[in-house]
Amino acid sequence: MVTPIHTPPPLAQRLSQLGTENAFAVSAAATAWAAQGNRVYPFHLGDINLPTPPHIAEAMARAIADSKTGYCAPAGIAPLRAALADDVGALRGVRFGPEHVAVQTGGKPVITKFLQAVMNPGDEVLYPSPGFPIYESQIDYLGGVAVPYGFLETPRGMRLDVAAIEAKITPRTRAIIYNNCENPTAAESDAREVDALADLVLRHNLWVLADDAYAEVRYSGNTEFLISRPGLKERTITLYTFSKKYAMTGWRLGAALGPQRVIERITQINVNDESCTSQPVQWAGLAALTGDQAPARHLLAALRERRDAAVQGLCSIEGMNTATPASAFYVFPEVSGAMRKRGFDNVNAFATAALHATGVSFCTRDHFNRRLPGETGQFARFAYSGIGVADIRDGLARLKAWVEA
Ligand code: PLP
Repeated sequence: MVTPIHTPPPLAQRLSQLGTENAFAVSAAATAWAAQGNRVYPFHLGDINLPTPPHIAEAMARAIADSKTGYCAPAGIAPLRAALADDVGALRGVRFGPEHVAVQTGGKPVITKFLQAVMNPGDEVLYPSPGFPIYESQIDYLGGVAVPYGFLETPRGMRLDVAAIEAKITPRTRAIIYNNCENPTAAESDAREVDALADLVLRHNLWVLADDAYAEVRYSGNTEFLISRPGLKERTITLYTFSKKYAMTGWRLGAALGPQRVIERITQINVNDESCTSQPVQWAGLAALTGDQAPARHLLAALRERRDAAVQGLCSIEGMNTATPASAFYVFPEVSGAMRKRGFDNVNAFATAALHATGVSFCTRDHFNRRLPGETGQFARFAYSGIGVADIRDGLARLKAWVEA
């Protein structure tokens, strides 16, 4: 007789390599604090508390009323692929056709699908740190070797150190992940920096994931694109998302754009993973791209007011310093002076104490990938997409009073 075993078998070992998006953990701590009756000022999550423009929501309702509710092509509905090819290609000065587009359930899935398509186990992949945590999580999870690169702090904000990136390249380096208009630092490249990066990519024969999530969340100037440089289109996969530009974070709509043979493989992964992206949501995305752009401009204007309030509030606090970012919706001040004033040498303990003393909730550098050897600065990330101007002012005034008490 077989003795029954009551303990179920263990979970897969590979799960030990899977990371997470730590901003959600900060969010949980803030929610728990609020549940105890405390006021919270939410600077932690890159979500948007502004509504999706109504014509986009109406397009989805119309699609449902017209019974456009079945499965559709795994790469996306034809008109959306065509519209994405035109829109994304035009901004970058490259010619894309629908065959270069695979619609996704948000921008995030492009990260794992890019790595699945180009990275073998043991391959090294360069990625930014501080940077979006899913890069590191997915490289580790899929058996690659995650090689972080950092930034140089300058009075105009963070800059890439292209020579330092090059020093990390080995014969096993297969790809680089590049997030211009960066989360969390709001770092962005000027033309010279992009030229230098393009040169490096070509000389070392790398694949590129261009995470352009914030490329169009811009208050002044123009975004420089790696893919606009000669020879880069053949080796770049662009992550496009509707989340930020159109305040559609919860709709889950994005796309991968790139060389046809890569897009075909990513589409095959779509077939395996989710069959297709929700069809009504895709019709909404088509309305977003081809309809009135005034609401998107209004969103940007609202975000700009918030940026100005956040920068002003943070810079008024003793021991906090930041440049004014021209893109994305994050401010990434150096906070070691403020920490010292309150007697902290650990930025995470400082953030927790700030939440409990003031209700101001924010992420720290440690929520955005492993630190680089020798890294000494103490940084915090304040997202201003989910909090209005009055609360930004109020929250940061409280933070100032606490830090300077
Ligand atoms: N890339 C970066 C740098 C991000 O900050 C985010 C979201 O915050 C994403 C990609 C993914 O966004 P989504 O999946 O909503 O398109």
